[in-house]
Amino acid sequence: MRVDAAVVGGGPAGATAALRLAGAGATVVLYERSAYDGLRMGETLPPSVNPLLRELGLWDRFLAAEPMPSYLTASAWGGPEVAERSFVFSPYGHGWHTDRAAFDRMLADAAAAAGVAVRLGEAVRGVRRVGGGFAVDAGSPVVADVVVDATGRSARVARGLGARRAGRDRLVCAARVFALPPGATAGDTFLEAVPDGWWYAAPLPARRRLVAAFADARHAARAGLATPDGWAAAVARTAHTHALATGDAGPVHVVSAASHHLTPAAGPGWVAVGDAALAVDPLSSGGVAFALRTGMRAAEVLLGGAAEGYLALVEAEAAEYYRLREEVYGWEARFTGDPFWRERATG
Ligand SMILES: Cc1cc2nc3c(=O)[nH]c(=O)nc-3n(C[C@H](O)[C@H](O)[C@H](O)COP(=O)(O)OP(=O)(O)OC[C@H]3O[C@@H](n4cnc5c(N)ncnc54)[C@H](O)[C@@H]3O)c2cc1C
Repeated sequence: MRVDAAVVGGGPAGATAALRLAGAGATVVLYERSAYDGLRMGETLPPSVNPLLRELGLWDRFLAAEPMPSYLTASAWGGPEVAERSFVFSPYGHGWHTDRAAFDRMLADAAAAAGVAVRLGEAVRGVRRVGGGFAVDAGSPVVADVVVDATGRSARVARGLGARRAGRDRLVCAARVFALPPGATAGDTFLEAVPDGWWYAAPLPARRRLVAAFADARHAARAGLATPDGWAAAVARTAHTHALATGDAGPVHVVSAASHHLTPAAGPGWVAVGDAALAVDPLSSGGVAFALRTGMRAAEVLLGGAAEGYLALVEAEAAEYYRLREEVYGWEARFTGDPFWRERATG
């Protein structure tokens, strides 16, 4: 089958690119290897996603999924006391706690409604150039004029086409979902710095809470963070987070949260979007907004815009992100003797 565009990866970046390409009249196939049925992380959305969802025409669909409002982040970062930072000064209103699998499914459904052929449960094995296009090797193979790499942190398609990924760290996340005990309040986002990394807790819809440890991969392995016992021992050593890790706990999920930057982020006939182009530390809560913005911009490039502007955008975002990352980790001066903090505070 011949199509105008193939999008590989049905996260926020891929679904947005597909939606925009189809909206402009292109024939589009979107491949997503999952069926959005497992736990997906990245559930707290900052206020900056609000104008993007409106611009995409998805505001009503988004609200229909009943996300929980998020008004502030409390943190013990830079000192033992808990300080609060409210979204009250954001020009975009408040943020949200979502069910990320439902959020991603909502975006893919919107793409399907716009005419995209969404292939759920189909992993793309490879993409190669063929005369004037790209052959996509999947259960339902296609030849596409252009291709979008939206595979997330793996940047699998772009790397196969010759792009290089420069990693900055080996941050991993070990997370568990708790059912809130009766009478417990959901709370809002919470962060706590510890010598080997940091902890994060956030409410999820349906009276659940996600509690996660972030650490370098080597430390996570040494501390056994992937096991329920190792995880429980580590959270018990926290000053604050342990009080949020109560109720029935699910298994430990370990995922990469490493920062990396792809060069180049686009080439003749292809564009990498979202985490495939630039994967940021979850501390920034900026990943989904970047995915939506680059998904929109990629469609413009592939519909005949110049790639230079897109490449400049990704380079500028990467430079600003690395500057901010150094600054925010630099705020924590209690643990500068620990490798986790020393490496980050110096870029
Ligand atoms: C632990 C953690 C916590 C985070 N917390 C936040 C947060 O609170 N707020 C926030 O804004 N961001 C957060 N982020 C970042 C955010 O989740 C990402 O930036 C965002 O998901 C990027 O979207 P994406 O579409 O580029 O990639 P992804 O969401 O990773 O989507 C990629 C998709 O491609 C599919 N795929 C991969 N390979 C193939 C293949 N070969 N064939 C077919 N399909 C394929 C995958 O199944 C996946 O659905 C967090 C990230 C992590 C790791």
